[in-house]
Amino acid sequence: MDPEIVIVGAGPAGASAAIGLAQRGVRDVLLLDRSHFPRDKTCGSGLSPNALKVGEELGIGEELRRLATPIMSVKIVTPGGREMVLASNAEAVVLLRRDFDNLLVERARALGVRFEGGVHATELLRERGRVAGVRTSDGREIRARFVLSATGAHSIFSSDPRPRRSLGTLMGWWEDLEFTPRQIEMIFDRSVAPLYGWLFPETDRRVNIGICIDGQEEDGRKRRHIRDVFARFLADHYGERLKGARQIGKLKGHPIVHTTWVGHCAEPGMLLLGEAARLTHNATGEGISQAMQSGLYAAEAIADVRAGRADEPAAWEAYTGKQRRRFTPAFAMGHALRAVIDSPVLDVVAAAYNRPFIRRSVVRLLGSALAGASVSESDAPRV
Ligand SMILES: Cc1cc2nc3c(=O)[nH]c(=O)nc-3n(C[C@H](O)[C@H](O)[C@H](O)COP(=O)(O)OP(=O)(O)OC[C@H]3O[C@@H](n4cnc5c(N)ncnc54)[C@H](O)[C@@H]3O)c2cc1C
Repeated sequence: MDPEIVIVGAGPAGASAAIGLAQRGVRDVLLLDRSHFPRDKTCGSGLSPNALKVGEELGIGEELRRLATPIMSVKIVTPGGREMVLASNAEAVVLLRRDFDNLLVERARALGVRFEGGVHATELLRERGRVAGVRTSDGREIRARFVLSATGAHSIFSSDPRPRRSLGTLMGWWEDLEFTPRQIEMIFDRSVAPLYGWLFPETDRRVNIGICIDGQEEDGRKRRHIRDVFARFLADHYGERLKGARQIGKLKGHPIVHTTWVGHCAEPGMLLLGEAARLTHNATGEGISQAMQSGLYAAEAIADVRAGRADEPAAWEAYTGKQRRRFTPAFAMGHALRAVIDSPVLDVVAAAYNRPFIRRSVVRLLGSALAGASVSESDAPRV
């Protein structure tokens, strides 16, 4: 039987929308994903305080804290090789995406949402100027009053005419490497500027290490060979520590698509959510919390139309407006942050880090901007 709402993509955006709808009493929802769950997703798996906050709203807060690795500190390495350690006091966590995304899908199912894995949506159905459903690779036509497209970076149903801006990424997983438990490392190496490389602890034994770099030049040409950049990055920053470590699986990469001005995320009958609407941070690559938040905004928009509080055009406009108000300031700040990272400012700041005023400012500004965290002052700064 056709559902009232079909959601394509069961990542954080689609699954959060499904939960948000169910929490508002809308349960005739079909959540589709081309993968069977649990499934892997190439990701650092870092969840910021914002992601934890939305997780609470979605009713997974307790389970998330139980499964995740709490982050107690963030080590920042500057391009000049100086180090600053900021305390994070479990305000951020790391949980492997396989487990996190499955937690969200299970929550949606527990609330009455129908989930089908292994279903690939290939095309939108359009009728009388509206999106009216999706066609799937197994030959089905699924009709629905509303379609939510949450298909991630490749966003096959987007009609956004703007050039796609992306970060390139490459990452791997290792066990038994020497690392400070529950500490994130963010390495601002010149070879990846204005982005960074990272080490995220997934458990007390396993870490993921990766880099993100600008994906392309203005003219769309590929900028650098990311495998070469990563090999050098690993040799420079982890060469010694990787000697006794065991690599788990292969290196993996995936683009992160970003924008500064949120747009083109609604058309008659359909909303785009999460990374399909380019809602990631251009300086940090963070996209999970934005995906979850946009899922909740989409649920609110649909609930408003169903309850007669707004007609569809007004609800869709409100949806876009909420995202702009929520994300534009941080995305705009991202450009300032990139400029700082590409300059000697980080080294100057690190050199002055022991002065209390500088330290407080760094903690407030850098901590929240980079880690997405409201970090507090470190007990043991290392410069
Ligand atoms: C290397 C890397 C590291 C990252 N690290 C972090 C991090 O530490 N913290 C953070 O906050 N963000 C991080 N991000 C960004 C984050 O992964 C994404 O922004 C986030 O996953 C977006 O969520 P989403 O639900 O919009 O899309 P996705 O998580 O990509 O989910 C999309 C879903 O749609 C399904 N799908 C796609 N097409 C179809 C189709 N046609 N039919 C059916 N199903 C379909 C896919 O199978 C997938 O399950 C990272 C990204 C990368 C690449």
